[in-house]
Amino acid sequence: MKISILTLFPEMFGGAFDHSIIKKAQEKKILSISYVNIRDFGIGKHRIVDDTPYGGGAGMVIRVDVIANALAHATRHTPHATRRILLDPQGEKFTQKKAQELSKYDHLILICGRYEGVDERVRKFVDEEISIGDYVLTGGEIPAMVITDAVCRLLPDVIKEESPKNESFSNHTLDAKRYTLLEYSQYTRPPIFNGKKVPIILTKGDHQKIAGWRNQEALKKTKKKRPDLLQLESGKLIQKR
Ligand code: SAM
Repeated sequence: MKISILTLFPEMFGGAFDHSIIKKAQEKKILSISYVNIRDFGIGKHRIVDDTPYGGGAGMVIRVDVIANALAHATRHTPHATRRILLDPQGEKFTQKKAQELSKYDHLILICGRYEGVDERVRKFVDEEISIGDYVLTGGEIPAMVITDAVCRLLPDVIKEESPKNESFSNHTLDAKRYTLLEYSQYTRPPIFNGKKVPIILTKGDHQKIAGWRNQEALKKTKKKRPDLLQLESGKLIQKR
């Protein structure tokens, strides 16, 4: 997969992407990340990218022509399955389901706004708008890191095959039905710490019993911490649509 990030601050990404799993995914050529500096498409000698808002008001707005030119540059040799995404607090909220959906594309283009945001007409040039939550950040760079990280670990051969399947917010099968659950509780050594013991079933090596325990644990945790992920009808669990 290729991820192109349109940003005014490409230097912000080094620390986030030069370590651990994302670094390895790039070394293994599973993921290639490139940056398009929006400033390079700025107007005139001073490479101006923004202007004051029509109608007045505080702050500056990034120009539509500047973004359109940067986007045209990012898409010039692109393969077919490209998704152009504007990072925006007004967009659809990012979820694990969305990360799974995005992991199927060949090329993601992430547009990072700054200042008071981008000219409204930029929305016409993108396939979708994504928000990472109901709060306002200073720029789209951290959301771009969040999306790149969440998508990268779902790409084939980036992490162990079974790991993303059982993780929180993935679909779990219980009694032949699919549910979105949190992950079951995980333990490692020591077996006893400050009097707290690892559940004995996990130490016996019976994989069928362990799988059953984990399913029940995932369900119990989800009911307690995130009942909104489940639907309960007269106390009975039903699948959420
Ligand atoms: N004036 C805009 C508004 O009220 O909707 C907010 C602009 S924000 C200060 C500047 C840029 O940060 C946005 O254009 C967007 O790219 C990015 N941004 C801020 N919060 C975000 C969020 N929750 N999710 C995704 N991007 C965000």
